Amino acid sequence: MQRRTKILATLGPSTDDPKVLDKMIEAGVDVVRINFSHGTAEEHIERVERVRNRARAHGRQVGVLCDLQGPKIRIERFVGGKVFLEEGASFILDSSHDKNSGTVERVGSAYKHLHEDLSRGDTLLLDDGRVVLWVDSVENTEVRCRVVVGGDLSDRKGINKQGGGLTAPALTEKDREDIKTAALIEADYLAVSFPRHAADVNETRELFVAAGGKGGIVAKIERAEALEVIEEIIAASDAIMIARGDLGVEIGDAALPPVQKRLIHQAREMNRVVITATQMMESMIENQIPTRAEVFDVANAVLDGTDVVMLSAETASGKYPDKAIAAMHRVCIEAEKQRQATQSEHRIHTQFTNIDEAIAMAAMYTANHLKVKAIAALTESGSTPLWMSRISSGIPIYAMTRTVQTRRKVTLYRGVYPVSFDVTATDHAELNREAIDELRRRGAVRDGDLVIITKGDLMGIHGGTNAMKIVKVGDLV
Ligand code: PGA
Ligand code: MN
Repeated sequence: MQRRTKILATLGPSTDDPKVLDKMIEAGVDVVRINFSHGTAEEHIERVERVRNRARAHGRQVGVLCDLQGPKIRIERFVGGKVFLEEGASFILDSSHDKNSGTVERVGSAYKHLHEDLSRGDTLLLDDGRVVLWVDSVENTEVRCRVVVGGDLSDRKGINKQGGGLTAPALTEKDREDIKTAALIEADYLAVSFPRHAADVNETRELFVAAGGKGGIVAKIERAEALEVIEEIIAASDAIMIARGDLGVEIGDAALPPVQKRLIHQAREMNRVVITATQMMESMIENQIPTRAEVFDVANAVLDGTDVVMLSAETASGKYPDKAIAAMHRVCIEAEKQRQATQSEHRIHTQFTNIDEAIAMAAMYTANHLKVKAIAALTESGSTPLWMSRISSGIPIYAMTRTVQTRRKVTLYRGVYPVSFDVTATDHAELNREAIDELRRRGAVRDGDLVIITKGDLMGIHGGTNAMKIVKVGDLV
């Protein structure tokens, strides 16, 4: 059985060895994430080259997602690297304090407008909520706080405001530079961190396109205020990432599970891809097997309908990158056998506006109700397989295309597998035969199997799909 849910793994120091990459590819990684929060442009370029080389050697298609750092709001540094904050003590965040001279009383803030966004009564969460501060007063650039939950606090840790409301714009100067690197890398996806509204997503897309980028835009949902305008954000994006780390800090951990379910549903409903991220296999940074709770988390995300499950530090800096991928793989496969993962009422009452969308829906309806072995979607842009993959199904969808960008883009789509297929045939019967032969060569189908082929009258045209044909492998077509 082929896994349908895709695995996205973050690259880092633990994955630089080509032998490790080989094992990750063998374990089934579909897309890699380049995290612009760490490392230099040269390192990123090298990492991507290395992955593409190894993927080519394995005859596999591995997509690349570049993730912008965004305005992660951080404290500055301490003399000596860290301090211990006692519960009940007072502590000042001061945006005009020297950036290397933090003490147990006061530390600088990298975000110079911090004091403008805060007032008495606000709660601040530092280091993903490990340290909690209550704002007592704000005077000039000083945010005077009381320590509610104490603990170690070290250099450059993140600051979140409970309930959201820090107004830092989504794109920093560094992000604008990194967008150019992402275009140079030919990233298949570019993720924007902390977008507040659709305009942040649109601006990212404009800059990416201006730099020559061709990939899709991923909106990371990690601010409380993004949830209030979620529809416009999804509409502006090609995919969303449920960034449970920062989002959980802002809205509270208990609010995450229902939000995850709602976001997955909404993204699919709007024909967008959805990635579930952060701490999915966290204990595997150190251990060879996941906890039971992690197994359930991955399985539940699959049942919620996610396209992609993501690994962060588990692969980037963990001890067992390939084992974390292998664990996700086996959990996804089992979860996908559940009835709810293969049945669909998706858009059952919807009016379609496009012919190609209607064909995609008809193909999936037929596939789910007839004993079909595979769907061969002859495609240029990949939009037909995207529509198809919004429907829950157990039938593999092969995105057959000559376009390498499309083959890489579909690495994120649940249940869609890229196939390099150059259309040379001029008549339809021959084209059908070539498509079936290609699937037969891959061992995807054999004589007697039913296959659905979708295509357009004029191949090689975007959005031209207008036909669906059901053929039996081995019969003259
Ligand atoms: P990050 O985003 O890993 O870039 O912080 C994911 C998250 O916040 O969950
Ligand atoms: Mn984040």
